[in-house]
Amino acid sequence: MDLGLSERHRALQAAARDFIARFGHLSPPVGGGGGRKRPDRKALDWQALLIEHGFAARAVPRRYGGYGAEPDVFEAAIITEEFNRAGISLGIQGQGIRMLVPTLLEVGTEAQRERWIGPTIRGEVIWAQGYSEPEAGSDLAALRTQARLEDGQFIVNGQKIWTSSAHFADMMFLLCRTEPDRPKHLGISYLLLSMDSPGIEVRPLPTMTGHATFNEVFFTDVRVPADQIVLGRGEGWRVANVTLKHERMLLGDASKLMHRLHRLQALLAETRVEGRPLLASPVWRDRLMRLQGEVLAAKYHQMRLLGEAARGEESGLGLLVVKYYGSTLAWRLAALAVDALGEAGLVYDPHDDLAEDDAATAWYADWMYDLGLIIGGGSSNIQKNIIAERGLGMPREPKLQGGA
Ligand SMILES: Cc1cc2nc3c(=O)[nH]c(=O)nc-3n(C[C@H](O)[C@H](O)[C@H](O)COP(=O)(O)OP(=O)(O)OC[C@H]3O[C@@H](n4cnc5c(N)ncnc54)[C@H](O)[C@@H]3O)c2cc1C
Repeated sequence: MDLGLSERHRALQAAARDFIARFGHLSPPVGGGGGRKRPDRKALDWQALLIEHGFAARAVPRRYGGYGAEPDVFEAAIITEEFNRAGISLGIQGQGIRMLVPTLLEVGTEAQRERWIGPTIRGEVIWAQGYSEPEAGSDLAALRTQARLEDGQFIVNGQKIWTSSAHFADMMFLLCRTEPDRPKHLGISYLLLSMDSPGIEVRPLPTMTGHATFNEVFFTDVRVPADQIVLGRGEGWRVANVTLKHERMLLGDASKLMHRLHRLQALLAETRVEGRPLLASPVWRDRLMRLQGEVLAAKYHQMRLLGEAARGEESGLGLLVVKYYGSTLAWRLAALAVDALGEAGLVYDPHDDLAEDDAATAWYADWMYDLGLIIGGGSSNIQKNIIAERGLGMPREPKLQGGA
């Protein structure tokens, strides 16, 4: 596809290539399941370098600590493409940076933006997303964690579950019920709370990767200053949907798919059976190229969506398919790598931190972790319902009455 780059865009492409040539050796490794630890010194330094040169937080205004460029979807696509091709990190990608920061830019107060955006984009403040509860996952609006206002503070009581990163997060964006007398969607508020607050208990939940990546979180009389509400009382569902829009783009992100595809190509070129690289085998090439076609379709689809967003157009159905399609494809790419690795994967040892830098281990961790991402952020079944009902206008599924 000829992107017909303008002179300005070609200059950015050259700047990205120059940056990669000069600093690429400082990049932290990419892949490996993610979400288990705070960014280390290397990741923080890399993030600072990326922001300084305009390759991360590029369109975040300078007054909040970003690079301050005008939002430009082609610039974002060029940077992503160059970094992916070189196999180096695009920086920290957590829920704070990818979901909360755009939410605050859209609906936060000036004070909230000034306080949290800078430390979040630098990776100094890590956020957890407190949405799901034992009885409120797919039916999120049924959540029961409550917060009552008392002397200028919300007092939070209840429980969250499957909360990624809560075991090392500094802050949480939390959905809770503040208006119990109103209909369920209208009784919810969105609070920003410090994980250091007294009354919070975090219990890690190990996954099949062998690591704890998510947690149960219990709240007993946890105090949150009243100005740490986003938008206002009863507006939480609206704010949650702003965040969710960014979450679904994150979970279906085509740049992650492209990067994974490049890693997969390299793996098939390096892995030899009876002296021949797998890539030389028509069977393996066929499997790779089928996935390659789908990844390229996802990439150009995402560019179209970004273009529509930049023009202020509604993407409708096009946007609704991203999470379902992207999360499934990411897992299928990792699954092909695991097939290719064969018994090399038996070296996987979740208790060995050193093994995380190992390419085979990283593929196994991605494969196991990403299976969860087909569920997280709204399961595939729920995504299909949304696509059918809101995107294709098919009849709504019958709702169960009486809590059966
Ligand atoms: C790796 C991972 C990370 C996560 N991180 C976070 C996080 O950071 N913060 C957070 O708040 N939550 C997080 N979650 C939770 C996630 O959002 C929920 O798991 C998800 O919304 C599904 O909810 P549930 O687990 O309660 O499943 P349920 O809602 O109980 O669903 C169980 C099954 O029933 C199906 N189902 C339910 N309703 C319908 C329906 N109407 N039609 C058809 N099928 C249906 C579902 O598809 C699913 O297969 C994470 C989950 C995973 C797996």
